[in-house]
Formats: sequence, structure tokens, C-alpha cells
Amino acid sequence: MNNTSCDCDSDAIKSKFLKVEEALERIAQDLHAIEAEEQLDIRSALSRILATDIVSKINVPPHNNSAMDGYAVRSVDLPTEGKLELSVVGTSFAGMPYSDTVQAGQCVRIFTGAVIPDGADTVIMQEQVERQGDVITIRAEHKKGQNVRPIGEDIEIGQAVLKAGKKLTPADIGLLASLGIPEVKVKRRLRVAFFSTGDELCAIGEVLQAGQIYDSNRYTLYGLLSRLGVEMIDMGVVRDTPEDIEKAFLSAASDNDAIITSGGVSVGDADYVIDTLNRIGQINFWKLAMKPGKPLAFGKIKNAIFFGLPGNPVSAMVTFYQFVQPALRHMMGQDKVTPTRVKVPCVSSLKKHPGRMEFQRGILEYDEQGSLVVRSTGKQGSGILSSMNQANCFIILPVECGNVAAGSEVLVEPFEGLI
Ligand code: AMP
Ligand code: MG
Repeated sequence: MNNTSCDCDSDAIKSKFLKVEEALERIAQDLHAIEAEEQLDIRSALSRILATDIVSKINVPPHNNSAMDGYAVRSVDLPTEGKLELSVVGTSFAGMPYSDTVQAGQCVRIFTGAVIPDGADTVIMQEQVERQGDVITIRAEHKKGQNVRPIGEDIEIGQAVLKAGKKLTPADIGLLASLGIPEVKVKRRLRVAFFSTGDELCAIGEVLQAGQIYDSNRYTLYGLLSRLGVEMIDMGVVRDTPEDIEKAFLSAASDNDAIITSGGVSVGDADYVIDTLNRIGQINFWKLAMKPGKPLAFGKIKNAIFFGLPGNPVSAMVTFYQFVQPALRHMMGQDKVTPTRVKVPCVSSLKKHPGRMEFQRGILEYDEQGSLVVRSTGKQGSGILSSMNQANCFIILPVECGNVAAGSEVLVEPFEGLI
């Protein structure tokens, strides 16, 4: 962690605005994944981060079995021309195998999922068979091994099926169950405290007084953090006084892995977040070459990582998605997630000045020809939270890019890929 005070390190002075990529690198350098683990039953482990590799102790499927309802036969018996009669000597049901060995000229009635009996290696679909009494007639149209799901086809003994760092999906839970594994070790949840700063903020449920606005960032943050699966401590609204902010910081730092605030990171008279952090913690404060979301504070108070997000609602969300979310994932021990980014034609013209990377809000949709295109949500002010509601993606415009003419290709980051 860099101990220098805000904006004073030489890099920041040289370039004044830090590039998004550089800020991401600096944040990553200061982070460590938590070590604590807990053992959970696989259902409770859904969406948690796996702490150890999972190696299979069994084959899945554990035996050669039939993919069809039909007849299990010996491939050496298969006719190369004409027809052949085989006698049906028994049945293999799923869960109730045929216990003898299939001999020359014999076959066994078999059902989907049932064990292929010894001696047999091929299954003929019942639709391709003529049966009269206990005799079937087959033709010369079959291949050795057909309709058989071989032992270990899905997973072999000793195979590493899931790696530490994976966020467990429904398919993973099913896979663990298919291996007979009832419990796994996962990383403990991150504890994240968050609060809003601002004398103008009014809690929902109260009547707005002159000059007040409702505190929305805390609710957006609640939503964003819930989706990440962290343990949240909502500390409410903290007033813009150095004493209140210091008290909140110290209390948040006592038992949490991360602290996230919104507001008070500009350099206005009532912006005490930076000053307070300089006094009681370590802080990097950056003016980022991005829009929205220019000011971003990153640092540490005691053992907790600190993110001071800008107060403007859109800026707070954009900086959360681009910086806080990857940082928290790293701390949770999750593998790096590379968000989906695709190039698509933009049907709107976009206004932009070169100099900052922009995360404009877009709607990714299909045009009448069925091609994927993006259009702007309209006004792009950093206070216009409704632009985020309408949007389903960011349109990412690089630093050097200027105005974008309608029809040009742009880079799009769908929100779904950010979850
Ligand atoms: P600040 O970063 O504190 O200078 O705030 C920038 C802008 O965001 C101001 O217009 C604030 O009123 C607004 N703002 C700050 N915090 C919040 C919040 N929690 N919810 C909604 N708007 C906010
Ligand atoms: Mg403020």
C-alpha cells in the first residue's frame, strides 16, 4: 500500500489523470485473498467460492451402461450381411443388473441406464429389432459399442473436476452430487461495511426537506453487494463532519474485510473522506481518466480495504462494476472473471471528447434483420440513474476516441456478464 497522501505521488502529478488499466493494476497489487475456509453441504455451497480442488474418487458413470431401451448383444455375433436370430436370456434393469455372462447366440433385454452385462458390448435399439417370444431378429446395420455409455465417460477416477477459486454453479453442485460428495470447503464470506456520506441525504420513508435528496447509493450498493454474495453491514448515512466520518471508519474497520462509501471524495469543502483517511489510514486518491466516475479513493484502514466511490449515482455504479467488484472477487479467492465484451454497430451517434475512457449506457438489442446492435440510452449525465435502469450494457469508448458516428462499431459490456 502506498502511504503517500492523496494525489501527491509523482505519477499522479505527471499525468494528473490515472488510466483505468493502471488503477486496476495498482488495486490488484494491494489485495490478498482471504484464507479462512468453512465446510458446507453442497446445497449451501451454491455461489460460494471453492477453497480446494475436487478430485474424483469414482468413475462417472461407474459402469458401462445402456443409452437406450433395447437388447445387449456381443459385437462378435453381429451379422455383416443378412439377418441373425438371438435368444433373449434375461433382463438388465437400471439398478438391477443381469448377473450372468451373455454367451454366443444370446442377448439380454436392457433398459436405459442399466449395466451392460458381462460378455455384451453393444446395444441394439428396440425399434431396430423384431421380437417373437424369446427370440429377436437383427439385421446387418449395427456397429460394435453402439448405444453404450462407457465407464468413466463423464469423469474418470483421479480427474480434477473443479478447481479452487471456482464460484459454484448449479451444474457444479450437480457434479459434486454425481461424485457422491456431500460437503465441500469454501472460502468464508467477505464482510463488507458500507455507508453513504452527505448532509443532503434523506433516508427513504422520511419526508424530503428543502435541499434534500433521497439516499439511493446505499440501496444500489446493497443490490450490487448482495449479488456478489458478501456479508453486508449497512451503516446508514454518515454526516459530513470529520468526527462522524472518523467514527464510522473506525467502527467499520474493526471487523470487516472491506469498507465502501459513496460521496465526499471530491475536493469540495464538505468532502472529509480523503482528509480523514489520510489521518487514520493509508490512501491513494486518484482522479481517473474515466467518465463517469472521475474521483476514486482507494486505501486501507487497519486491515480493511477501503473504496471511496463518487457520490453521483451513475459514477458510483460504474466505479463499483469496474474496480470494486473485481477487487472483492479477488479478495474472496475467486478466479479472475473476464467480463464479456463484444463489438457491435452503434445505431446512435455518441458525443465524446478525447481524453477519458467513457462508460456510456446502452441498450443491446436485435434490429429488424436479427443482428445485434446497440443504442444509447440518451442523456449521459452522471446523476441520471435512470440511464442505468434502461441500460443493459456499457458502451466502452477508449480514452482517445472522439464523437462516434451512427453505424460505427463500438465495444459493449453487457451487464449480465458483470454479475
Ligand atoms: P459528492 O461526491 O458527495 O460530492 O456528491 C456528488 C453528487 O452525488 C451530489 O449531487 C450528491 O448529492 C449526490 N449524492 C451523493 N451521495 C448520494 C447518495 N447516497 N444517493 C444519491 N445521490 C448522492
Ligand atoms: Mg457529498
